[in-house]
Amino acid sequence: ELTLFGQFVSHTIDRFDMMLASDQESNIAIRRDFSEEDILVEIDQDKIIQVIDNILNNAIKYSPDGGTITIRLMTANNEVILSIQDQGLGVPQQALAHLFDRFYRVDKARSRAQGGSGLGLAISKEVVELHNGRIWANSIENIGTTFFIALPIENLDGEDEWLNETE
Ligand code: ATP
Ligand code: MG
Repeated sequence: ELTLFGQFVSHTIDRFDMMLASDQESNIAIRRDFSEEDILVEIDQDKIIQVIDNILNNAIKYSPDGGTITIRLMTANNEVILSIQDQGLGVPQQALAHLFDRFYRVDKARSRAQGGSGLGLAISKEVVELHNGRIWANSIENIGTTFFIALPIENLDGEDEWLNETE
């Protein structure tokens, strides 16, 4: 569906925030560092919600001491980039390239205790690439991890220009 991405991300976080608020044990806060500009994207909303939910769930799962999750939206070169930054365990540099592999988990023992199958990020990558987007991560061990999702901006004006040019 044609979607106003800022609003869509806000609503997705709203629902997540309500879940967190009802969880007495949670000591995580979500900070929104973006304004809801009118950025249009063409997305399967249910699928992109799954991607954001998985990354937010990971941020919580792998932040044993809690902390703040910061969410930002930027635009660059006809892309909108959503970033989700946590203050958790982080990931060693050599593991970063494998995060999106099926069944890959950084610390087998640690991850097993947390539950999960190691498929979340592999599925997320598939979904984002089906949208002609990109997904990647930066991390510093014991400082935190940031995930980035870039999606093409739907440029309705651009289509008009193209029509005019070919007339
Ligand atoms: P699933 O999502 O299938 O329930 P999972 O969370 O282990 O299981 P992924 O979401 O694919 O699987 O993540 C793969 C691995 O990447 C995790 O097991 C964890 O080791 C590491 N990881 C993912 N997100 C973070 C994060 N925010 N901080 C630290 N490590 C992370
Ligand atoms: Mg996961």
